[in-house]
Amino acid sequence: MTKDIATPIRTKAILEKYGFSFKKSLGQNFLIEPNVLSRIVDHAEVTDKTGVIEIGPGIGALTEQLARRAKRVLAFEIDQRLLPILNETLEPYKNVTVIHQDVLEANLKQAIEDSFHDCEEIMVVANLPYYVTTPIIMKLLEEKLPLKGIVVMLQKEVADRISAVPSTKEYGSLSIAVQYYTEAKTVMTVPKTVFVPQPNVDSAIIRLLVRDKPNVEIEDEGFFFQIVRASFAQRRKTLLNNLVHYLPNGKEQKGKIEEALLEIGIDGKRRGESLSIEEFAKLSDHLVKIVS
Ligand code: SAM
Repeated sequence: MTKDIATPIRTKAILEKYGFSFKKSLGQNFLIEPNVLSRIVDHAEVTDKTGVIEIGPGIGALTEQLARRAKRVLAFEIDQRLLPILNETLEPYKNVTVIHQDVLEANLKQAIEDSFHDCEEIMVVANLPYYVTTPIIMKLLEEKLPLKGIVVMLQKEVADRISAVPSTKEYGSLSIAVQYYTEAKTVMTVPKTVFVPQPNVDSAIIRLLVRDKPNVEIEDEGFFFQIVRASFAQRRKTLLNNLVHYLPNGKEQKGKIEEALLEIGIDGKRRGESLSIEEFAKLSDHLVKIVS
């Protein structure tokens, strides 16, 4: 077996050989600890039947560990300068394809159809670029891709928000959106010292297992998320106040909103952050019938 890319010595040698300079604007913090990488792959339970989508392979540190265990790896990298490096570092791994593209612009549904027809399950596994963590996770979920799950390294603060419960300061529309689609668990916190360059924030690995169907039934998903976003628009305002000010036509519908809250037994003086997903679903289903 070839030497791990992720050791500090090999990483340094690769970066020097290519004269590579990190771009902070692309969230380039590379992992230099093989043990952390193998823990990520362990938590993703990657096997020789798994097709893996990786976002941001960098110089291939995680890609290599994935390639050793997965059936196939499809890695999306935005930075053209990394392509010749990946070409060399991943040369031994014939089951890896690197695509030079911004993952936010990629047609992932098509890529999955084209590349993973002989895989039994599909996982997204990545050390995410932190400047764009939330849009990437929301894209993966909202496009309703046929994923078994997502195991990613991200900012600890974002991991805390994703797995937060009601009535905590971390709980918000991101918690609700991600928990609606997945079962979310922070599986490990990671010190800054395992990256070059070291990021300014602490990191964590989160595992999101995609639910067969969302954990609450909702009549109109779009409206549900409008209600959720409006309810958290100003955290110190009451639920009623936020709905009136931040729902489209909220001001004209104030009476109807008050009526709906009364009928389902939710006090409009509560703060949005105290509502469970089930309560938001109830509110959304009730309100969608009377406001239009
Ligand atoms: N996987 C490598 C590792 O663990 O050492 C690198 C991870 S680094 C945190 C993030 C990587 O994502 C960088 O290689 C960066 O160039 C790439 N990247 C940033 N924005 C991206 C985007 N929108 N689409 C695809 N890749 C992106």
